[in-house]
Amino acid sequence: MLSGEQPHPPRGGRRASARTVLEQVHLAGPLSRAELTRLTGLNRSTVKGIVDELGAEGLVMEGAAEPRKTPGRPSRVVRVCSERLAVLAVEIAVDFVAVATVGLGGTVHRQARVSRSREHLDVESTRSAVRELAASVIDARVPIMGAGVAVVGIVRRGDGVVRLAPNLGWRDVELASLTRGTLAALGVDCPVWVGNEADFGALAEHRRGAARAHANMVYLSGEVGIGGGLIVDGQPLVGAAGYGGEIGHIPVNPDGRTCGCGGQGCWETEAGKAALLRHAGQPAEDPHGDAVERVMAAAAAGDEAATAAVDAVGAWLGIGLAGLVNILNPELIVLGGMYGRTLPAMRQPIRERMTRHTIGPTAEGTAIVAASLGLDAPLLGAAEFALEPVLDGARPVPLVDA
Ligand SMILES: [Zn+2]
Repeated sequence: MLSGEQPHPPRGGRRASARTVLEQVHLAGPLSRAELTRLTGLNRSTVKGIVDELGAEGLVMEGAAEPRKTPGRPSRVVRVCSERLAVLAVEIAVDFVAVATVGLGGTVHRQARVSRSREHLDVESTRSAVRELAASVIDARVPIMGAGVAVVGIVRRGDGVVRLAPNLGWRDVELASLTRGTLAALGVDCPVWVGNEADFGALAEHRRGAARAHANMVYLSGEVGIGGGLIVDGQPLVGAAGYGGEIGHIPVNPDGRTCGCGGQGCWETEAGKAALLRHAGQPAEDPHGDAVERVMAAAAAGDEAATAAVDAVGAWLGIGLAGLVNILNPELIVLGGMYGRTLPAMRQPIRERMTRHTIGPTAEGTAIVAASLGLDAPLLGAAEFALEPVLDGARPVPLVDA
């Protein structure tokens, strides 16, 4: 799993070399053959041969680069043909369902999103929303190579079963096979992978966003719950069955409230959206989706309750992050979802707690930044996951006339 900056040394074999080249242009964008040679560590003739092969398959093309500022002939560059094929990315959140078709290079072809109310979170309503949205984005001329589904739940990686999604009210939902059925009804026969929304968000930020080139990072996404994705030594940390990274349920306050998971004083009960609204004296319901903005605006204007809410949630965030920093010693903490917007106001209480609760040197080198892909991170991460087989050599099946 490359970050784009530090390529793995090429593994043996032509297929592995082809992956290395395709992955470079997929993640880094247009590159000259000379740059590809340097970045991949392959020799020039191998790079030329692979670029020619990938070109013949319609996956990359060579052409003139954008004009350079330095004098001299602009070198030709290799770039992906993003329209050659696509994957379908699906995000199932509490407040919305979103679908996109995404090509090589992370190019979003088409995207559709529908908001929904809390009465329509059941599996059947979700399926019909996915079916409608998918039908609106799928282009029959572009082969769909796979589908990645990001869901706010705990997912068994092996078979794509959502074991538990407390905020959706789901338990043991066979989401991968249900989605395969939904797509088959639309005439699309492809593999489907299901993962946790924050794990996919972390993958996207790691490959294309704020955490590019960082091998050790913590991604935290705050909304109704707290989702987390961890990248350790360049690899996602998912645990034995895929349930790892449920950092929203780290117990931080033994005297805290009961959590949706059944536990008590979980991190998300102290630092999630509900906690921010509660401390600010606001109702928990957020029908217009602007409750967080209103609290932040009130805090900026000097409102006492709002300021106290920002400080309290920032402090709990810092306490939880201190624990993670002590364990993982990440270079970077990427805050997504609601936290991307609240970070400027919460940075100070977060830092104070991190300094107080980390062991000396561990927090010194840890930067805290806002996510750069915004709300699209889980969709883009799901697409990255579904594109993996293409990087590894999977190609569209040629259409055969019956
Ligand atoms: Zn919990």
